[in-house]
Amino acid sequence: MSANQNLTWHDTVVTKELRREQNKHQSAVLFFTGLSGSGKSTIANAVSLKLHELGVQSYVLDGDNIRQGLNKGLGFNEEDRKENIRRIGEVSKLFVDSGQFAITAFISPFRSDRQMVRELLGEDEFIEVYVKCPINECEQRDPKGLYKKARSGEIPNFTGVSSPYEEPLHPEIVIDSYHDTPDVCAEKLVDYLVEKELISKKS
Ligand code: ADP
Repeated sequence: MSANQNLTWHDTVVTKELRREQNKHQSAVLFFTGLSGSGKSTIANAVSLKLHELGVQSYVLDGDNIRQGLNKGLGFNEEDRKENIRRIGEVSKLFVDSGQFAITAFISPFRSDRQMVRELLGEDEFIEVYVKCPINECEQRDPKGLYKKARSGEIPNFTGVSSPYEEPLHPEIVIDSYHDTPDVCAEKLVDYLVEKELISKKS
């Protein structure tokens, strides 16, 4: 008998619905995906600040930070990338259950991984945000010098250079971080949440 067979799911007394009611807003995952340097971390933090100012609870799960803690030890081959995203999905789900917006900033290059997270969550709880920026521009920004290292072969399996990026086919929202400033990108996302009645600017 595996250890898992002895586990029982305990429903919590304070439910997601009660937490949402108390917070006066809904909860969901803003699942950012896009190339390295496209602006995921920058925009995720800008959105989080705007939400904070509106009294909306959110938490940014950032790729580099999570890889230094929860996902320390996972690499960048396909299997580890999949496990990386699976854990992010499970953690995001806990944040949604806690009545908050989880804002995840990971490249998440594979459609199947993003679909896996979508399926973990309720219908209106997964918002796929494609942070769209041409690779030439990302490479020019190269905020962490990673493209340079990838081109020289120092970093293997680098998305967009030596590993594929599968563009979302039906994201809930596309953010154009090539033409729009980070502030405009963040405002468009906040407006999306208002439009979908997940938050209210008056609350
Ligand atoms: P990612 O998390 O996608 O790897 P980062 O947010 O770490 O990207 O880096 C993006 C870089 O591009 C930052 O240095 C940011 O200041 C810059 N940048 C320039 N224009 C934009 C924009 N419109 N949106 C987001 N970032 C931008």
